[in-house]
Amino acid sequence: MERGFAVNLMEHLVVPTFVLDTQCRVMIWNRACERLTGIAAADMLGKSDHWRAFYNGQRPCLADLIAQGRTAEVDEFYPEHGSVSEPRYGLYAENWCVMPQHGTRLYLAIDAGPIYDRSGKLIAVVETLRDMTLQKLAQTALQELANHDGLTGIANRRSFDDTLKREWRRTMRDVQPLSLLMVDVDHFKNYNDTHGHIAGDECLKRVALAMSNQMHRASDVVARYGGEEFGVILPNSSLEGATIVAERLRKTVEELALPFAGSEFGHVTVSVGAASVIPSPLIDAWQLISAADNALYEAKGAGRNRIASMQVEAQSASKQN
Ligand code: GH3
Ligand code: MG
Ligand code: MG
Repeated sequence: MERGFAVNLMEHLVVPTFVLDTQCRVMIWNRACERLTGIAAADMLGKSDHWRAFYNGQRPCLADLIAQGRTAEVDEFYPEHGSVSEPRYGLYAENWCVMPQHGTRLYLAIDAGPIYDRSGKLIAVVETLRDMTLQKLAQTALQELANHDGLTGIANRRSFDDTLKREWRRTMRDVQPLSLLMVDVDHFKNYNDTHGHIAGDECLKRVALAMSNQMHRASDVVARYGGEEFGVILPNSSLEGATIVAERLRKTVEELALPFAGSEFGHVTVSVGAASVIPSPLIDAWQLISAADNALYEAKGAGRNRIASMQVEAQSASKQN
């Protein structure tokens, strides 16, 4: 009688829930789980292929890992996961699931917890699921907004700062060079004055897109540093490599041949300052930025539409806070 009520309760719980026995056979597949997965309980009860409700290929669900004592493998199957408090009390995870029956991907938040009898023996594992797709999509869209420049669509200053910090730490640890380019559109104030602000915006978009298309390594980042200035982070690149990229970017913008009557070159051009360093605790990232800025200033002074470069030496630099 008591058990009947408990099962009935679980059957009608609004939270999609299924229960496995210690052999990973489905004991309960509630109504909400039927609705979520599109698979009827009658098709699932007593079977162990419940993975097919969520994935195209065979793999363990979170409840299987608990039932089989494989909680240490959770890393391998779920990029986002954690313990409820400690693994023996249960696990939670988040995951994109393909939901083969419906054919629509869902981002599911999953909790799985062991059920013990009075003597402490594992008798079953309960898994509950929550559809977090809308929240996940909203979160991803917010992240995109937070990290991308609204005009050009490339990484923004905030993302530039985060990447530089992260790559600084990583290249310091790996004793690898880190290079930075500062790219600035020449005479851009004049461009706006001549062609108008809307054409100026369009020009910035074209320049940003052309430069992005020139980046071949996944770790390289082109960001809008501010106004008509772009910052390019080149991890694991020496000054020599950075100079090659700088020249490629300069040439790419030149070849766009965006007409600009007020320029001595007749079209839009950029000047590029390149700097490189092997990060060390003796120096700060701002010294790399400052060196690239100085190189940019040199390129401007030397006539624009050119590049200049500067190596930052750890020995000659002192740490400033
Ligand atoms: P230089 O060759 O020395 O770099 O000269 P410059 O005119 O490019 O430099 P300056 O810093 O004097 O002017 C930068 C101009 O860039 C001024 C500003 O109005 C324009 N600018 C900055 N952001 C934007 C933007 O988002 N859209 C447009 N259209 N113009 C922008
Ligand atoms: Mg400029
Ligand atoms: Mg500028």
